Amino acid sequence: MSTPLDNALNCLRDDVRAMHAYQVHSAAGLLKLDAMENPYRLPQELQQALGERLGQVAINRYPAERVQDLARALAAHARMPADKGLMLGNGSDELISLLAMAICKPGATVLAPVPGFVMYELSARYQGLRFVGVPLTADFELDESAMLAAIARDQPALIYLAYPNNPTANLWDPATIERIVQAAPGLVVMDEAYQPFASRDAMDLLARYPQVLVMRTMSKFGLAGVRIGYLMGDAELVHQIDKLRPPYNISVLNAEAGLFALEHADVYERQAAELRHERAQLQSALAGLPGVQVFPSEGNMILIRVPEANALHADLKSRGVLVKNVSGMHALLAGCLRLTVGTPEENAAMLAALQGALGSA
Ligand code: PMP
Repeated sequence: MSTPLDNALNCLRDDVRAMHAYQVHSAAGLLKLDAMENPYRLPQELQQALGERLGQVAINRYPAERVQDLARALAAHARMPADKGLMLGNGSDELISLLAMAICKPGATVLAPVPGFVMYELSARYQGLRFVGVPLTADFELDESAMLAAIARDQPALIYLAYPNNPTANLWDPATIERIVQAAPGLVVMDEAYQPFASRDAMDLLARYPQVLVMRTMSKFGLAGVRIGYLMGDAELVHQIDKLRPPYNISVLNAEAGLFALEHADVYERQAAELRHERAQLQSALAGLPGVQVFPSEGNMILIRVPEANALHADLKSRGVLVKNVSGMHALLAGCLRLTVGTPEENAAMLAALQGALGSA
């Protein structure tokens, strides 16, 4: 005899029931260097001013004009060309879901280099789309001929290029990217989540190719908890995708906090500059550790390869430091850990823990 709960569960998609849920691990009591957050808060007086601003917001009303103000302020901040369109997401994670929904026709394919950001594949699976992952080369560059062959074979409706890539943290060759854009039969999303820390961006491609969309987020800027992502591209293309957005996806508090942050963009830009400086310091310190290979970074994270990634990850945790173990994510990442760049004090603590763990290994 099936119960009403069985009946309800049986109405759910079999593939959904077979999935693992996305896990957010608790970092309670640990130095949290696993998720590329900006370690800096606002200076005390600005934090207080933000609190006062949020205290004035009419939370009894649905979000309206302030969300439009935020969209305009982000377009200006990104120096988006005036003829392009911009849509807002509850983090770029939501935009990635909406993009999958927008291209969801029978047999449609999403293509991205792997290893890459896991939500490209998961969002495709959530919609029952096909995902094709094209391996990077051993040094994490785009494999241009493999990418072009996969594009010709699979005719992807949507290609993601994370620029810089997560978790490898590097930027790819612009000429290769342009040839991929030219070969693409559909949309190409340049995911610039780590743009505040990178030496190049894709705004010139956005200006020249209507199939190119640039996706950014305020998360790495310093507002990971607020959840604001934005997608810029051809106005008609963005208008069509925007139809799928839940009407009030940006809360009044998020919109106000985002606007406040942009009014104080200079503070966040100084923090990003500080983190770029810290990244360089950390890279050279890591390179001096025995058995550690350090990869180049254009983000606020550093990928390293170590002799015993699983053991080292556990050892670091026992020493109070949480980093991301990406060694099981893809064969190309064997032995790899991803470290978020923190404050000078946090980085020193991570280095000391690494030194201790490597010494005792
Ligand atoms: N794109 C990339 C490449 C990322 O690494 C992340 C998160 N780490 C995101 C998008 C999602 O960012 P958010 O949803 O916080 O905007």
